[in-house]
Amino acid sequence: MAEIVTVPCRTDNYAFLLHDRETGKTLLVDAPETAPIADALAARGWLLSDILVTHHHDDHVAGVEELRAANGAAVWGASADAHRLPPLDHALAEGDTVTVGSLAGSVIEVPGHTIGHIAFHFPDQRLVFTADSLMALGCGRLFEGDAAMMWSSLQKLSALPHGTLVCSGHEYTEANARFAMTIESDNAALRARSAVINDTRNRGEPTVPSKLGEELATNPFLRAHLPEVKAAVGMEEASDVEVFAEIRSRKDRF
Ligand code: ZN
Ligand code: FE
Repeated sequence: MAEIVTVPCRTDNYAFLLHDRETGKTLLVDAPETAPIADALAARGWLLSDILVTHHHDDHVAGVEELRAANGAAVWGASADAHRLPPLDHALAEGDTVTVGSLAGSVIEVPGHTIGHIAFHFPDQRLVFTADSLMALGCGRLFEGDAAMMWSSLQKLSALPHGTLVCSGHEYTEANARFAMTIESDNAALRARSAVINDTRNRGEPTVPSKLGEELATNPFLRAHLPEVKAAVGMEEASDVEVFAEIRSRKDRF
């Protein structure tokens, strides 16, 4: 059994703690800053054994060195980005396994937002840590990769079991919902989800994590292959990637 804790950090970042009850080990996914993560560990009496890094941006790695030093934690990250990540104890590529106590996560390369972005899928816990690749009702901006790259990354995540919880890196969901409604205002599942998101945010609660099945039904960035979405953006004859690129560039201008 494992326990997951969402830790709000900085303005709108999320870090995640995953605690293995069997061995007492605890892993962290991303370290936007130190204090809230150290507090969340202390409040539960957990010791940090491992830090998993999704990508090199400062709002995901700023706390790594301090948390590593304070806890003697091992750091895992993409070998492709080893030159611009904190020093790695374990350099990872597609299909590699991260083992922490009885927890085992597989590495999925999800380039697009950055070239070396990776996600971590823990099938037994039904969790996937996606940071700035797949997000709640959104996806990360294409800072380094192109639309074809991000679309194929999102395809890999879409193929996971639909009950998987998507632990993404930011609370951008309210704005993402407003944008999604400009693409698919007729999507009943999206309208219902938007209402829930507004209520959740009005109560000051996080909208992350979300269920993959819910993302597949409502997230426009996972839906560019569908005839109704192609029609909605006036691109019935275009390829999936072209439609995805159009939706992504509309979001950039939204
Ligand atoms: Zn980022
Ligand atoms: Fe980020």
